[in-house]
This record gives sequence, structure tokens and C-alpha cells, in this order.
Amino acid sequence: MAETAARMTGGGWEMNEKPKKAAGTALPKVVFLDRDGTMNEEVHYLHRPEDVRLIPGTAQAVRMFHEAGFRVVVVTNQAGVARGYYTEADVEALHAYMNRLLMEEGARVDAFYYCPHHPEHGIGAYRTVCRCRKPDTGMFEAAERDLGGRIDRAASFMIGDKLIDAQAGRRFGVRSILVGTGYGAGMRDMQSEEGGAPAYDMYAENLLEAARVICSGGPRSID
Ligand SMILES: [Zn+2]
Repeated sequence: MAETAARMTGGGWEMNEKPKKAAGTALPKVVFLDRDGTMNEEVHYLHRPEDVRLIPGTAQAVRMFHEAGFRVVVVTNQAGVARGYYTEADVEALHAYMNRLLMEEGARVDAFYYCPHHPEHGIGAYRTVCRCRKPDTGMFEAAERDLGGRIDRAASFMIGDKLIDAQAGRRFGVRSILVGTGYGAGMRDMQSEEGGAPAYDMYAENLLEAARVICSGGPRSID
């Protein structure tokens, strides 16, 4: 049977403090992060640790999120697995390496979720219409389940460099921020040429700027 659930890597919650059962109304709040083009420089089908380049400010942003009480969760589409370009073991090794880089700067991602599927170009069981591939919300739901079943969606965010990131965040019911790194600046230009309401709630030049806005009380409006 095709396995269509989101995969979790990076040690997950066990390596950190297990999320405490929410007391009263204090549900966990989460910053969901796209990976490529948001945390690290965009590299086509990135899979080798030696090709990882963290975007300046990424570790600082992750630290700021934690200090403000957020869980930090990566949600990443990895269709390169479906296409046979690299394996799930490669993805897991890359995530472990990213956390080692972040830890050198006192930061750490709490959990990584990835979608290894593709609806048309997947090989074997990886070719499937799954629930985890963004803009669908399966990875968000998996994280919420692993955090005890309920998070404070109204206080949570999705940050990414593609419109599918913003769309996934919206569908899940969190506020979405488009960053200008990776494909983000191009996505913003495309969206403004097309007119209409943007798919995202706010635009930030990069992850650090997004962190500054979120940690100073959150975006109030798009401009
Ligand atoms: Zn999937």
C-alpha cells in the first residue's frame, strides 16, 4: 500500500522537551517554516549536506521564535524522493545536518515534516495524490497531532517563499507570511501583476524580518 502520511525526521519532539499538556487555554503555538528558499538558499533538489547554505539570520530567527514561546516546525515538499533523485534517508540526514548547523548558533528546529510524494512524477508507491503535499495541510495536521491534538491556530504562522506555502497556511487556519528570499520576491511581483487579494497575509524581506514582526506582536495588516 502506498504510504501517504507525512514523514517526520530530525529526532522530533523526543529529543526536545516533550510538549507539555496544555494547561487551561494555553494551547501550543507554532511557527511552521518552509525549508528551501526560506531557511536555506534555494538549490534545485537539494539533498547533499555540503550544498546547504543557511540564509543569514535564520538561526537568530529560530531563536527568537523559541524565546517568544513558539514551537518551530519545518514542513517541506520533497518530490525529489518521489522522482528517485535522492532517498528518504538523504532527507533525514540533511535535516540532522541542518539542526547541527543551527545548534552552532544556539538554535534548533523542533521537528521536520516532509512529503516524499508526487501525484504524476512519483516512482512506485511515491506516485500518489497524498494529503501532505503543500498546498494541502497533512503535514500541519501531523504536527498538531504530535503536539497533543490541538494547537492555537490563531496564534500560529506559516512562513515560506512560495504561494503554495501561503495557501497551505491559510487552509490550515494560520496566518501566512511570504518571504522575499528564494522564489518569494518573484512570487510577490507575479501576484501584484495579477492583481486581486494576495494569497499571503504579510510580506517580509527574509525570515529574520518575519521573526521581528511576529515577535513584536504580529502583523496587523499587509502594509
Ligand atoms: Zn505527500
